[in-house]
This record gives sequence, C-alpha cells and structure tokens, in this order.
Amino acid sequence: MSLLHSFLENKKTAVILGHTNPDGDCVGSCLAVYNYLKDCFPQVDVTVYLEQPADKFRYLNGFEQIRTEMPADFQADGCICLDSGDRDRLGAFSGFLEGGGEVLCVDHHITNTRYGDKNVVEPEASSTCEVLFGLMDEEKISKETAACLYTGIVHDTGVFQYTNTSAKTMEIAGKMMAKGIDFSTIVSESFYQKSYVQNQVLGRALLESILFCDGQCIFSAIRKRDMEFYGVTSRDMEGIVEQLRSTAGVECAIFLYEKEFQEYKVSMRSKKKVDVSKVASYFGGGGHVRAAGCTMNGRMHDVVNNLSIHIAKQLEEQA
Ligand code: AMP
Ligand code: MN
Ligand code: MN
Repeated sequence: MSLLHSFLENKKTAVILGHTNPDGDCVGSCLAVYNYLKDCFPQVDVTVYLEQPADKFRYLNGFEQIRTEMPADFQADGCICLDSGDRDRLGAFSGFLEGGGEVLCVDHHITNTRYGDKNVVEPEASSTCEVLFGLMDEEKISKETAACLYTGIVHDTGVFQYTNTSAKTMEIAGKMMAKGIDFSTIVSESFYQKSYVQNQVLGRALLESILFCDGQCIFSAIRKRDMEFYGVTSRDMEGIVEQLRSTAGVECAIFLYEKEFQEYKVSMRSKKKVDVSKVASYFGGGGHVRAAGCTMNGRMHDVVNNLSIHIAKQLEEQA
C-alpha cells in the first residue's frame, strides 16, 4: 500500500496545502490529491487551502472549492503539504502544522527540510505531480485527476524542456494523455497564453535586461511602481525569468520584482553550470539546481551584487 493510502486510513478530515504564490505544479498537485481523495476516500472530508491561484488554472476540477482564507478553527486529522520545501513556504497556512493532525509532505525540492511526520521527497522527480503519480493507484486516476497531474508536469518541466524531464516523466505524461485529457489546450492556455499586460511587463523586463559576466548572466527587475502602472501582481510575473534564461550564451538568469519597498522576490534559472539552489539557500530561500528562489531586502543594486558574487564564483570554478 502506498504511503498516501496508508496515511488516509482512519482519517476523517484532511487539509491539502501548497506554497505561497502557487504555480502550476502547486495548484496541479493540490487539486490532483483533492480529486483523487474525492474518488477513492469519499469518507474523508477534504479541503484545499491555497493563496488565490491564477485564473488560467480554473479548468482544473475543484478550483472553485479552493479556500483562500485561514479558518479560525484549523483542526484536521491529516495535513498533506505539497510542492513546499519548508514550513515557511506554506505562508499563512503553516498554522495547520500546529493543528494536531499528522503531516504528510510530498515534494521534489532538493532543499526540502523534511518537516512532515511522513515525507516523500524525490529531488530527481520533475515535479510534485510526478511524485504523486507514484503514490496513486494508476487505474483509480480519473480524467480530472489526470488533467491536474499533467498540468503540474507541464509547468515544472517548461513543457518537457528542462533537464528535470526524464523518460519516466514522459511515460507518466503519456499515461495521463491516455486518460482522455485535453492536453493541447492545457499547454496552450495554462502555459503559453499571456494576457496583454503580462506581455507588456515581459517586454519591459526584456527591454531593460542587462548582461554581465561576459554575457553568461542576465538580470532584469520590475519595480513596484511599474507593477502598479501596468496593474499587474505577482501572479503575472510567471515566465519572465524563463524568457531571460533562453537568451543565447546565458548560463544563469536572475529576475526580481519588488513585493514591498526594498523587498524583492528573486527568481533564478540556470542552464548547465550554476547550482542556483545553493545561491537561493544561502539567502534563506530554496528550490532546485536549475530553478530556485528567495526573498531579499535592501537596495536593488545591492541585492543583484550579492547574488552575482555567488554566481560568478560558481562560473569561475566551472571555467
Ligand atoms: P520561482 O522562481 O519562484 O518560480 O521558484 C523556483 C523554485 O524555487 C520553485 O521550485 C520554488 O518552489 C522554489 N522557491 C522559490 N522561492 C523560494 C523560497 N523563498 N524558499 C524556498 N524555495 C523557493
Ligand atoms: Mn512550485
Ligand atoms: Mn514543483
């Protein structure tokens, strides 16, 4: 019996949590478990708590049932934490960890701190959705659950582009396609499609980007006042750092946006040489070898300088 199944035995209530600023793998994994539980464990009263995810994920079954506010009474028999490497990543919902219930953590971040009572952490997996597939009975995966798992895999692999994609990833994606999901629409509308303002902000970030370290690094940032000007939020920043990374000759891309005055959300992506999870961990964040993030305070110039010292050091060691 898989750990997911044994965990749910004898549980009456369960909550499903993901990370702040939820991405495709986060929303996909939370709703995959939600749908799977509804089908296979109808006796368990299950609720998903997440910060409001982007509207583009509305096609996922269960999206409308997501609760976005922390309830006053947060008791549950079980708490399933997905795609979140440490307690802080759960944001306001980390209070559930103190709710008395047993905690199951399913994740793929190399920096995961194993904060659950039970932990299934597979850093080699492309996505939390890929890890979840291994915990589910394949024949019990419905078309709705399959659409959630496929979404997570597609988003965390950049549509099967990044080196976290393995033969196993493709096999699982194929099995999800065989469940009859609308894979083409999932890819085009949840991954590639952008709103007009999202494209404007992307364009602005590319226009103002700066190459350094002999063209091996690229940096760009969007300030709070510019976000206000375009009327965008953190949810509209997805994909910018990936576009910077795709610049020819670039090994490492850094993108920042200002959350509060002199408080920056940092995203880093690398190709082959730089371990960005080490850099992000040093500054209190985390992630994967080729994709990581953190939050940093201070003047933008100092933030970039501090990051670039670590990246340049790694590039020199590789040279
Ligand atoms: P992002 O740049 O926000 O898309 O994140 C890239 C990867 O690093 C994702 O897998 C995130 O879950 C992870 N990550 C981002 N920010 C943090 C953080 N502050 N702490 C830990 N992990 C993070
Ligand atoms: Mn994620
Ligand atoms: Mn993930």
